[in-house]
Amino acid sequence: MAAPLAGLFDYLPPAIPSDQALVPGLRLLVPFGRARRVGILLALAARTEQDPTRLKRIESILDARPLLSPVDLRLIEWAAAYYQQPIGEALFTALPARLRQPSPLLDDRVPGVQVTPAGQNRDPANLGRAPRQRELLALVQAAPAGLAMSTLRQRLGDCGGPLRTLREKGLLTLCQLTPDSSLIPPPPLPETNRPNLNPDQMLAVQAILDALGGFRSFLLDGVTGSGKTEVYIRLIESVIAAGRQTLVVVPEIGLTPQLRERFTQRLPGPIAVLHSALNASERERNWHQAARGEATLVLGTRSAVFVPLPRLGLILVDEEHDPSLKQQDGFRYSGRDLAVRRAQLAGCPVVLGTATPSLETLHNAGTERYGWLRLPQRAGAARPPTISLLDIRNQPLQAGLSSVLREHMHAEIAAGNQILLFLNRRGYAPVFTCHSCGWVGGCPHCDARLTLHLHLKRLWCHHCDWSQPLPNRCPDCRSDDLRMLGRGTQRLEDDLRPLFPETTITRIDRDSTRRKGELDRLLGTVQRGEAQILLGTQMLAKGHDFPGVTLVGILDLDQSLYASDFRAPERTAQLIVQVAGRAGRAERPGRVVLQTRHPEHPLLQSLLRDGYAGFAAAALDERRAAELPPFAHLALLRAESPQAEAALAFLREARALATGLEQPSVQLLGPVPAPMERRAGRYRAQLLAQCAERPRLQQMLAQWNTALRALPRVKGLRWSLDVDPQDM
Ligand code: ADP
Ligand code: ZN
Ligand code: ZN
Repeated sequence: MAAPLAGLFDYLPPAIPSDQALVPGLRLLVPFGRARRVGILLALAARTEQDPTRLKRIESILDARPLLSPVDLRLIEWAAAYYQQPIGEALFTALPARLRQPSPLLDDRVPGVQVTPAGQNRDPANLGRAPRQRELLALVQAAPAGLAMSTLRQRLGDCGGPLRTLREKGLLTLCQLTPDSSLIPPPPLPETNRPNLNPDQMLAVQAILDALGGFRSFLLDGVTGSGKTEVYIRLIESVIAAGRQTLVVVPEIGLTPQLRERFTQRLPGPIAVLHSALNASERERNWHQAARGEATLVLGTRSAVFVPLPRLGLILVDEEHDPSLKQQDGFRYSGRDLAVRRAQLAGCPVVLGTATPSLETLHNAGTERYGWLRLPQRAGAARPPTISLLDIRNQPLQAGLSSVLREHMHAEIAAGNQILLFLNRRGYAPVFTCHSCGWVGGCPHCDARLTLHLHLKRLWCHHCDWSQPLPNRCPDCRSDDLRMLGRGTQRLEDDLRPLFPETTITRIDRDSTRRKGELDRLLGTVQRGEAQILLGTQMLAKGHDFPGVTLVGILDLDQSLYASDFRAPERTAQLIVQVAGRAGRAERPGRVVLQTRHPEHPLLQSLLRDGYAGFAAAALDERRAAELPPFAHLALLRAESPQAEAALAFLREARALATGLEQPSVQLLGPVPAPMERRAGRYRAQLLAQCAERPRLQQMLAQWNTALRALPRVKGLRWSLDVDPQDM
């Protein structure tokens, strides 16, 4: 059912017998309460536990063929059970949004024209003095699969006359085309673009090729610039040659246009791209193209893990450590973990690629559940960057930059190189305050400060999006001595201009890239070397290649060194290594300068001394000692309510219920208020369940979930179970 309901519902077959067989995976229109709803047929049963006289009938079958295959359904059912989510929610996450409505599938056939066998053999030069006919025939001959009418008109303008004549001569015929078969096949790819693999890449490619045809998980552990993408491309080439489809799951496509471009340039299509920035019908068309088996490659964000792929041969998950592979609301699933499960169901290999593996994946590789493929060297001529800490205690700063960093910057600019400055805080200033009485601009709906956005003359809440005009006077004491504290990327940009007057500065963050296409444009200016200083937030840490950057300044990560989430050190280390990896990717070596007031911090020390691998080994030891993932399994029960205390009260009741379930191996911690207790006007609290054994936790969660659903509803209270939570 297209509704967040936990159960399955029984229906009788349609009243009017149709010649269409009822098979699982079909969409149905069914009466539900007083309305009609779209449902998915999951199974046929001869018996029901309902009163058979009260069963309703299926009203109609919506589609001519099932949208989901038995394997697709098994994955979705498994995901719903594992993540304790209603099956209806899971099913409709897997389908394009429009199909929640009883709308017909988009008929994406387009009218086209094709050569007949006679037309194929006819030399256009023999058509006599009919240049338009000659031109038309030659064009259609170049596209043996057919050419869309729209393309034809684009190329030749109105050509109705010559077309009619050629059809009468039996040389051309009308046809229906799928959008991509109507493209003129691209010219063969130039071989020069294809670097020779280095020995590490060859070993990795070979190990994975050897595993094709069966299930096996791999960690592709390759430093930034080590040629992981090149490995993906070689693998996909082989999979295409074997007549199979590849699924590539990435954290955010919008942020990595380069990956898509490289795939398009190097691989024969069609490539189906799936992400939330596409409009609904584009998305649905691409979905069908994948599901019909036409797309050789599907490149998508986490929900692509559910796309039906009849010829699936390989799954790749890029940047597997990235938290955005986990859905954070509604159906909270991990795109990475489901990719592994899907590979298991489909009987194909899955490759998790990254320069900074998550501790979970490292543990799986370390215990040999996953094959561990390493690319320790940068590919080609590129050298790894050197990272150094810069102690800024008692240092005079200008624009937040120490004099050492500024000198480095001037030197690089003089040498014609590019610089990347990383500051993970957007807006102008994070604090706006009254100097007379100490008032601080806070969000009325959240336990959070408002960020100053000077150019918009507003104070903005980055947690709930509430904003207000910039006050001229203090709301408390009417003083006009209002000041800002701290620095976001906008202020950094403004402060840099006078320090580097002749220099082009480009800022990349959520605010500067709101307009569609703006990110691509800004990245373009950097790639072409037009921008000399590039500054921005963690958007810059995501997979971009800046070959001209030789210096990376990491300005302020100190806060995240002391964050409360047990994953904070892991995230911080990943961020540092990923940002550092943007530098010096071409022939020019890169240097990374990390400004800090805590140079003695163990995380920074181990990262500098032993690199990410050393840091991760130490972090894994700590997790083991603390009985945290991957050495224990977690589920977080979250609750929120507009009433203070209501969430905590609900969780206390939930805890009492759990205690009655007699699952002594599951430990409960809490309830406690969430790290930011009030957000968007709601008070939030959480209760953690922890267990060393996953099956026991799963068993307990299923019972607990049922018991929680049976509780009487409390007005305004919402709760959710998050299995394998990422942020806590
Ligand atoms: P990663 O995905 O690990 O960051 P890429 O695949 O993007 O690395 O490779 C980094 C750069 O090195 C790219 O410009 C790529 O074309 C180049 N490259 C990759 N493999 C080789 C190779 N074997 N020889 C030469 N250059 C290579
Ligand atoms: Zn004041
Ligand atoms: Zn807010």
